[in-house]
Amino acid sequence: MLMLLCALQLATLAPLTPVAQRQLLAPTAFHSVGFEWQDGYEGLEAAILAADGTIEPWWPVVEAADMRISQVGGKRYAALVHGSSSTSVGVLLRGVAAKSLATIQVFWVPASTPLALAVQPPIYNRSSWGANPANCAPTYCNTTHIALHHTASASEYASSSWAQCAANVKATQVYHMVTRGWCDIGYNYLICPHGDVFEGRGGGDNVRGAHDGFNCGSMGVAMMGYFHTPYNQTLTMPMKDSFVDLAAWKCAQQNIQPLGSSWYAGLGAVEQNMYGHRDVSNTACPGDFAYAELPWLRARVDALLNGGGTEIILDNGAAVYSGNWTTSNSAAGHYGPDYRWANTGTAPARALWTVNIPSAGRYQVAMWWPAGSNRYPATLVGVALHSSIYTTTINQQINGGQWNVLGSVSLAGGANTFGMSNAGALGWVVVADALRLIKL
Ligand SMILES: [Zn+2]
Ligand SMILES: [Zn+2]
Repeated sequence: MLMLLCALQLATLAPLTPVAQRQLLAPTAFHSVGFEWQDGYEGLEAAILAADGTIEPWWPVVEAADMRISQVGGKRYAALVHGSSSTSVGVLLRGVAAKSLATIQVFWVPASTPLALAVQPPIYNRSSWGANPANCAPTYCNTTHIALHHTASASEYASSSWAQCAANVKATQVYHMVTRGWCDIGYNYLICPHGDVFEGRGGGDNVRGAHDGFNCGSMGVAMMGYFHTPYNQTLTMPMKDSFVDLAAWKCAQQNIQPLGSSWYAGLGAVEQNMYGHRDVSNTACPGDFAYAELPWLRARVDALLNGGGTEIILDNGAAVYSGNWTTSNSAAGHYGPDYRWANTGTAPARALWTVNIPSAGRYQVAMWWPAGSNRYPATLVGVALHSSIYTTTINQQINGGQWNVLGSVSLAGGANTFGMSNAGALGWVVVADALRLIKL
């Protein structure tokens, strides 16, 4: 009787259903592994397997936030990106035996195009902006994610000099340390409207910051401005360029896939590798106008690192002109040594850029011009595609001295023609300055 009681107690203490494990070896080198399963399967965990038999920590397999559309039909998806190990050969799955692990589909994303090396962009270090020493020793996590923030300061966006921007960084440190009682500035990096990158948190590369409430594994980058109602500022092109350079450097260094999702240790969940603060916290940060640019920023980083990265700039000197154009360099904010202008509403005048596209694909198209009050507000520009001309208009009275994105087009390899015309009402001028294509 006593023995039977003991046996019963043992049975009660044992797991209700034993843990089953399944090992899958990847068919080729991979940088990501994803899973697909049906509703009702809870408690699945995965771990990356290295060639020497060691495994990385077990991760709970949870739905990827950016794949929710796939829930239709009861299927659920998760994508995990492996960490820094270059010796990964497969993945281990474990779960309860009652739900067969065999029903879970596993797919591999080959590492056929390894992340290209990216160089660190110029960074103004802490001594350049007169940082106060931190009140704490730095700690470190393996960086797997990049978080986009804004400083929510409209006046910082209006700053006109480097010294003023540096002073704004110092003011943020004082705010974080004195007002909020933190031991140092929270952000890892800050980017001013002129595109200058400032080192934030002390402790060097990959130091753990304090920026989204979770922090371990995430590099926090703050855009200096207020990209949300009521100020509705928008990221300047230099800001975006610097963010892309900074993120590309970090992604290459840490083998982070800019378009992917992976386990964010601090959060304890799968999160997009490049995310906005609002994706993990109840906040408007980084603001509607910065958040809306995240997909494009991710795509630009990916293009730089994953074999795209083609950036083609053609100045006005590379165009072929018909009609009556005048070369000038008097207007501020022109690209390169000069630009050309033509009167609207007179005899037809065209500028045509023939771009040699090295590989077919989708390209973002941008133009640069010096703005002025006598410019035509509906300057006609176009691209020849499939024997047709597709046009749009640009307002050359505004947004001078920067790249202005017109949209994106799918281009065949080889010669493609972009153009600008003086068509329009009499009394204005159109300006042909520079054209830029970036492969997406
Ligand atoms: Zn934030
Ligand atoms: Zn600045």
